[in-house]
Amino acid sequence: MTDLARRTVLAGLAAAPLSLSADGARAQDMRRYICTTPDCRPYIYNPADGDPDSGIPPGTSFADIPDDWYCPVCGSTKTSFIPLG
Ligand SMILES: [Zn+2]
Repeated sequence: MTDLARRTVLAGLAAAPLSLSADGARAQDMRRYICTTPDCRPYIYNPADGDPDSGIPPGTSFADIPDDWYCPVCGSTKTSFIPLG
């Protein structure tokens, strides 16, 4: 490895914590998500409301819902939902 390459690697390592904190400051995805199952109402998940009946408190973004959560109307998993708008 050349000295230049080594310095580049070290600079990349030093920059990593900065990029991590940038991710932490990123605005949460507070879009609503709609269930795409055809025979569903459909159910729309609103982060502002959460899903208290399933233990999801208001203010929870869709991405922060546990993967074992399911649509309270039809029972589909998170993968059946798409963002609205
Ligand atoms: Zn559904």
